[in-house]
Amino acid sequence: MSQQSISVKEQSVLLQERAQILEELGRLRELMQAEVDVEPDEGDAEIFEREKNAALIAVLERKLQDIESALRSIEKGQYGICERCGEPIEPGRLEVKPDATLCVKCQQEVERLTRRNRPTRQVEW
Ligand SMILES: [Zn+2]
Repeated sequence: MSQQSISVKEQSVLLQERAQILEELGRLRELMQAEVDVEPDEGDAEIFEREKNAALIAVLERKLQDIESALRSIEKGQYGICERCGEPIEPGRLEVKPDATLCVKCQQEVERLTRRNRPTRQVEW
């Protein structure tokens, strides 16, 4: 019962966060699509601005995926369960990161693997 009420609270937090991100993404995508008259002097600043926006869009999209996957686990009644090892995610972690889908241990493991698997030059045989 208490688990259920936590999920309901987190669900509204996540839905709110998702709405904010979608709004922000819409604004950024509009900016990216807007035709810009680039003055020669302002070219660099303009390019910098667009690169910054593109990076921000990528971050927000990743965040959105996490949020949606957390919302799906709430629907399935599996919120707060690590997707990787099936153990409960630390409540303190969910407090600060309601969209967490992995426990701290698995998150660290995944990050370590991701770093190691960064595309490096493939050996061609
Ligand atoms: Zn885990």
